[in-house]
Amino acid sequence: MPDVIVVGAGPVGMLLAAELTRRGVDVTVLERRERSGDGSRAIGLHAPVLAALEDGGATDRILADAVRVSRGEARSDGKLLGVVRFDRLSVRHPYVATLPQAATERALAFGAPSPLRGIAVTGVHPGTADVRLETSGTRRDGEISAPLVVIAGGVGARELVFRPGAVRRTSYPDRYLMSDADVPGRPDSDVAVVHLAASGVLESFPLPGARRRFVAWDAPPAGEDGGFDEPEARLHRLRAAMRDRGETDAADAVTGATGFRVRRVLAPALRRGRVIAIGDSAHEISPIGGQGMNLGLLDAATLAPLLAHWIRSGTEPDAALAAWEGDRLRSARTAGRLAAINMRLGRPVSAVTHAVRTRMLGRALTATGSIVPNAYAMGLDAAAR
Ligand SMILES: Cc1cc2nc3c(=O)[nH]c(=O)nc-3n(C[C@H](O)[C@H](O)[C@H](O)COP(=O)(O)OP(=O)(O)OC[C@H]3O[C@@H](n4cnc5c(N)ncnc54)[C@H](O)[C@@H]3O)c2cc1C
Repeated sequence: MPDVIVVGAGPVGMLLAAELTRRGVDVTVLERRERSGDGSRAIGLHAPVLAALEDGGATDRILADAVRVSRGEARSDGKLLGVVRFDRLSVRHPYVATLPQAATERALAFGAPSPLRGIAVTGVHPGTADVRLETSGTRRDGEISAPLVVIAGGVGARELVFRPGAVRRTSYPDRYLMSDADVPGRPDSDVAVVHLAASGVLESFPLPGARRRFVAWDAPPAGEDGGFDEPEARLHRLRAAMRDRGETDAADAVTGATGFRVRRVLAPALRRGRVIAIGDSAHEISPIGGQGMNLGLLDAATLAPLLAHWIRSGTEPDAALAAWEGDRLRSARTAGRLAAINMRLGRPVSAVTHAVRTRMLGRALTATGSIVPNAYAMGLDAAAR
């Protein structure tokens, strides 16, 4: 029987597995997918995460390939509204490191045991001395137990630990189109740019290899209220948004577009006895703000020493786990609020409101000094203090 079973081989589960293994804990990771996904979601790693991953070596592996973004710009109608200087923050890593999620996952998983793939956990049954998991899948139908179980299965595993209705959920009306594209030869190749237009926001973030991530607020086509339409129509709308909002040259470089909607979800608690939920299983944050994965990585990095202590000593670190849970829930609440503000700032508005909004934002970025870069770079997270 392993000491700890981690459910889910996403970035959060694999980081936890690596951090526990490094501390001598015997870990098994169960993953329902046969192969790891290569679709890119998260691209930005913030200062507190980079600091937390230093001891395990993941920070060096990430920084070997990442772009270090030390400056962000807000632009509107071709004009600079304000600058966000990450390089002026007093932190060990005064930048946002950008890397496609698949590459980040490889860097995080180093040293962790290979996940047992093709095994989906279908039931969680806590006992007094261990937790029994029901599993099904191409490799194994049956049961497996461990003294401690961590659910890091993302959105899809939430119902394993929380009753339907127990988790607070807000669905937003906003939808976005996203694409990563080759855009060589830009003078601002290491600058994160947020274009604010009356028709909505367009984010343009650097990626390694002269690539960039574009994310645009998307108006649903007339008559459509539910899912996203055909790929060609999405690509057409993303290119139109890029031309309208300040990325005319890059618009032709974009060759496809995915769509996503946003929700905010926060579990009431992270721990029930020997079962703990972290990452997207416990909280979901709008990608507009770029903190969802970072939040989960900090859950894992701060939980690992507590679980290792529990396994080694045989004694539940109850008080430390309660403090950890309070910190992580507070941090998730803060990140959710910031993402909601970001989304509100990026919605389409009338020309008059747009003029007022850009003037106020320009002044705020100038007057507030390090407040905005600190908040954006997760300086408000409990793990950053
Ligand atoms: C478009 C988009 C852009 C984003 N951009 C950013 C960004 O820039 N910055 C940022 O910080 N975050 C971003 N995020 C959020 C980020 O991608 C997630 O927060 C992160 O992937 C969550 O990691 P996780 O390990 O908790 O869950 P996941 O990545 O979802 O991994 C969970 C794993 O568990 C497995 N699993 C699920 N259920 C079971 C089960 N029952 N049994 C076994 N295995 C199971 C799944 O197959 C999966 O492999 C973005 C998200 C989206 C959608």
